[in-house]
Amino acid sequence: MNELLKNLTEAVGVSSYEHEVRLLILDLIKKHVDEWRVDAMGNLIALKKGTGASGLRVLVDAHMDEVGLMISGYDSNGTLKFETVGGFNDRTLLGKVVQVGPKKITGVIGARPVHLLTSSQRDSVVKVDTMRIDIGAKDKDAASEKVKVGELAAFVTKYEEVGNCAIGKAFDDRAGCAVLVELLRSAPYPFDLIASFSVQEEVGLRGATVVGFDANPDVALVLECTPAYDLPTKDDTSPNVALGKGPSVYVMDGVTIQDPRLVSHITKTAVSHNIPFQIRRPGGGGTNTATIQRTQGGIPAATIAVPGRHAHTPTMMINLEDYANVVKLADAVLRSLTQELVKRN
Ligand SMILES: [Zn+2]
Repeated sequence: MNELLKNLTEAVGVSSYEHEVRLLILDLIKKHVDEWRVDAMGNLIALKKGTGASGLRVLVDAHMDEVGLMISGYDSNGTLKFETVGGFNDRTLLGKVVQVGPKKITGVIGARPVHLLTSSQRDSVVKVDTMRIDIGAKDKDAASEKVKVGELAAFVTKYEEVGNCAIGKAFDDRAGCAVLVELLRSAPYPFDLIASFSVQEEVGLRGATVVGFDANPDVALVLECTPAYDLPTKDDTSPNVALGKGPSVYVMDGVTIQDPRLVSHITKTAVSHNIPFQIRRPGGGGTNTATIQRTQGGIPAATIAVPGRHAHTPTMMINLEDYANVVKLADAVLRSLTQELVKRN
């Protein structure tokens, strides 16, 4: 059992409420970094001093937050209304168990029993604004005593391993956080490495916007978990990335073109180290690279990701070999970074 992934994914950290994850990570890295601090937004920024062989300033980022729900009101029957925090496919929410607020009160996103549905109801999608969280409160007053408006709810998903794969919640981006923890625990790099475990990515790359500006690095590497859409479909479309085929390398997404010199460095490094990799099919989505790349005078930045099925739902799946290969690839990419590589002529 990968305890690092288990502990990181079972911790709760819906955007803006990342402190449980932050404390856990701090505990994991404290002995392996030279300095650390938490900024005003809640980003955890650590410095791992290098050997001094290179003067580069390198930032490696992974976001701590996960998608979840925010309580927005009560119905007279004691159920909780909610808004989503981060992007969701509404139909994945029904019937899921959640933990609400700081007391982690258990609730279920209620669904009407199938026996009571008319045939047209059975065929239609239930909209998220008609869903409610049931915490077993007898009425509105009882509900408001237990849970306050503005509190957040996270999914309850136990980490499990099946064969080469792991099932759990929030691999996006605790898988990236776990990779970054492993990098910090390894031998010093030639340069000072600034690690950021950032907040509020899922609501618009907000934490990394502050970190990128503040760190002003020469190069940035973002570690992510990217959606793998690789299960058979009616149209038999080729997958964007597939589980088990190695680290996924971003080239272009909905908001960024990755630094081509870094992309080429990543793929060449993978080939020379015999690490499998796959180019993520260009289009859609976005990572913290977008905001880090465009801060200060511009920062060369790129993203390496662990492919993860069922992203932005209560339960995801990753392949553990892909995960291990992202650790290997990110490590090798960093160790062979040079000033030349990112110098503009
Ligand atoms: Zn992510």
